[in-house]
Amino acid sequence: MAVLTLRTAEFATLNGVSLPKTDTAVTYPAGALTGTGTVQHVETLSDGRLAVLLDATPVHPVDAGWPDQGPDRATLTTPDGREVPVLDCVVGAADGAALFLGTEIPVRKGTGDWAFVVVHVLPEDAGIAEGDRVEVRVDGGHRAALSAGHTACHLASLALNRQLAGAWKRDVQADAAGNPNFDALAIETTTILPGGSRDVYRLGKSLRRKGFPPDALLGEMAAVEAGVNATLAEWVASGAEIRIERESDLLTGMRRWVCDLPGGTVSIPCGGTHLSSLAAVSGIEVRLVSGPGEGAAEVVMETRCT
Ligand SMILES: [Zn+2]
Repeated sequence: MAVLTLRTAEFATLNGVSLPKTDTAVTYPAGALTGTGTVQHVETLSDGRLAVLLDATPVHPVDAGWPDQGPDRATLTTPDGREVPVLDCVVGAADGAALFLGTEIPVRKGTGDWAFVVVHVLPEDAGIAEGDRVEVRVDGGHRAALSAGHTACHLASLALNRQLAGAWKRDVQADAAGNPNFDALAIETTTILPGGSRDVYRLGKSLRRKGFPPDALLGEMAAVEAGVNATLAEWVASGAEIRIERESDLLTGMRRWVCDLPGGTVSIPCGGTHLSSLAAVSGIEVRLVSGPGEGAAEVVMETRCT
C-alpha cells in the first residue's frame, strides 16, 4: 500500500488540497499592470500546458460566463529570472478537490465552498512550482486598447438607448441613465476589441412584443447612427471622469463602471478594464449595419474609439 507511506502534505496535494479556498485577488480593476504573486497551485491540463494559480494577479482573464473582454497579454518572471509567456488566461473555479476551467465550471459564481480563480495558462516547460514568488507583467499597450474599447462599448450602448427611447410603445427596464434599455433587451453578442467593440442586436418578435417596433431602427438607420454619434461627441467633449467601484479585490467581488456624464453619473455592473477619463479620447463613433439574421433582422453596431 504505497499510498500509506505518503506524508500528509504529499497526500493532501495528490487530492488537490493545494487548491485555494478563496478567490484570487485581482488588481486590474484598479489599473495595475504589474504585481508579485505566490504560486498556489500548478496542474497539467489535458493538452500538456500548465494551469497556474496565484494568490494575486494583475492579469485580466476571459470569463466564459460573460466573455465580452478577452484576456490580457502577460508574462510571469520566475524566481531564477526566466520570463514565461502567459498563453491564455481564463476564469476557473475550484471546490477544494478539483479545478474547472471556463465553460466546464459546474456552478454559478458565489456558490458556497467554491473559489473562483484566475488561471494563467503557461507552456508545459515553464518550470514553475507551488510556493514560487513570481513577477507578473501585463502588456500595457494591449490593455490600454481593450480598456478604450470597453469604455467606448458602454458609452455607445447608452447613447443608442437614448436615441431609441422615443420609439418604445411600452414601459420596459431602464438603463443606467434612465432610458429604455434597448441594448439589454435586444443584445445577441458583445465583443470588446482593441480600440472598439462590436454589438450584435436581434430585432425579432420578442422585442416587438416588449414594445419596440423594429422599423424604428431598421427604417431609420442613418438618422439613428447620426444621433448616437452626436451624443458620443458631446460626452467625449465633456472629458468625463471614469472609475471602477469595487466592494472587494476578490475576483467575484461586485464591481461597477461609473462615469460622470454631463446628464448625470451612470453606473453599470462590469468586470472589465476601462479608461480613467474621456479627456484622453479624441472621438468615439459608431457605424450601424443591418442584415438578415436567423429568423429575425440583425443590426451590428461597430464602435471605434480614437
Ligand atoms: Zn462592461
